[in-house]
Amino acid sequence: MIQKVEIFDTTLRDGEQSPGISLSAKEKVEIAKTLERMGVDIIEAGFPVASPGDFAAVNAVASEVSCRVAALARAVPKDIEAAAKALQLAKSPVIHTFIASSPIHMQYKLRMEPDVVLKKAEEAVKLAKSTGARVEFSAEDATRSDWQFLVELVEAVTEAGADVVNIPDTVGYTMPWEYEKLIKHLLSQVKGLQKTILSVHCHNDLGLAVANSLSAVKAGARQVECAVNGIGERAGNAALEEIVMALKVRNSEYELETNVITERLYQASRLVSSLTGYPVPKNKAIVGENAFAHESGIHQDGFLKERSTYEIMTPESVGYPKSRIVLGKHSGRHAFKERLQELGYQLLDSEVEQLFNRFIELADRKKTVDDKDLEALLSTQVTGVDIMYELQELQVFSGNESMALVKLKKGTEIIKEAAAGDGPVDAVYKALERATALKVELLDYQLQATTGGTDSLGEVMVRISYLGKNYLGRGLHNDVVRASAEAYLQALNRILTEGSEAVGTQFS
Ligand SMILES: [Zn+2]
Repeated sequence: MIQKVEIFDTTLRDGEQSPGISLSAKEKVEIAKTLERMGVDIIEAGFPVASPGDFAAVNAVASEVSCRVAALARAVPKDIEAAAKALQLAKSPVIHTFIASSPIHMQYKLRMEPDVVLKKAEEAVKLAKSTGARVEFSAEDATRSDWQFLVELVEAVTEAGADVVNIPDTVGYTMPWEYEKLIKHLLSQVKGLQKTILSVHCHNDLGLAVANSLSAVKAGARQVECAVNGIGERAGNAALEEIVMALKVRNSEYELETNVITERLYQASRLVSSLTGYPVPKNKAIVGENAFAHESGIHQDGFLKERSTYEIMTPESVGYPKSRIVLGKHSGRHAFKERLQELGYQLLDSEVEQLFNRFIELADRKKTVDDKDLEALLSTQVTGVDIMYELQELQVFSGNESMALVKLKKGTEIIKEAAAGDGPVDAVYKALERATALKVELLDYQLQATTGGTDSLGEVMVRISYLGKNYLGRGLHNDVVRASAEAYLQALNRILTEGSEAVGTQFS
């Protein structure tokens, strides 16, 4: 029988902790559905005790997918209770509880003696287990822990009933051969561990997250925690698509399988990139735009004679599109809806209708609308952000000094404001701030054309900060100033939709 490696996806928890990423519950559900269709075994949806927003998102994901859904909890009762509550609707709930095990973390962060840590871990696992959920225990900063203490800790939580024990390389410090040795050591020294699933969770601070995860698998780990596009705290997590394809392409090395449908990797990568605002580098392994491009003459010549000269896997095997599907204004609703589904979005009919109208508007100004335009359209519209303020009119005068006039609708109220600024975008943003009376700080502004050609659509992504929390907004229009205004207004609407609760302490 071929053994499986379970894929534990943490895009929505650790990935969402990447600097500047903040997903709404609706966006998290959209990503979760795509992950489930792709065949990941467990989706870690968030850290419920961290904030009411996180709690609501875990709750929403748990009620929308049928695969295992995990929620993070420190080894304290209130976290475990919050996790259990947020997972109430999950078909297969997983409580993921953790405590740090390295001397440096125990001494400076926890201020606890090792025997206290051991006791807390045991109690946490027992409490989590009593809720009826599957329980995963993580020894945070395991790779910098004393091996003997780690053996004792893993033994204690295994006895307490943990179904999965995770040995994270929290700070991305270990080397592949060290990690392999550690995993083998635990499997041989801990009594009863053979019956438990050993898991790994690697960070990419030295660029070794994927290599370390694979070494651990070689040594006997049977669950890998990873995130789409490798997003996550600091330099990120192990990239899901790289782990899965390494196990597939080099199958003879491992003789292990995952349940992931690899033909869906590319689409999941695009969706996560669109909704998080984190672009995928062109040369990114597996899912980068150039991952299957052959540039030099010698390579092209060899490739044309025999693909396998320079190709170790086919673009089709990761779902890389052969050609971009082009839609025009004569494309019907049916073709439009089908394309959205192929891009990974399962939307309500009312949402499709709204998007279709917007699509016709765009197609009127731009002859053809391809996948990149559609992805941009989807990421600006499928946000779960309530439209409190609606942009009704925008006038901009640009010269030595720029002036902007905005007209917004809020319920039945019409608000008009004008402002001067350094350039048109600055003027628009000042006018919008006045109109909404929200004082925010602009952290990031990115403008890009969705396709080539001067009739391309301008896609604007902004990140703003309000009372210490970040909010993302996107706008899409062939007038880049208008796109800038839409993006800013969406971020302002997001503040009002999500509230401005402070972000709780987060962990990696
Ligand atoms: Zn992490």
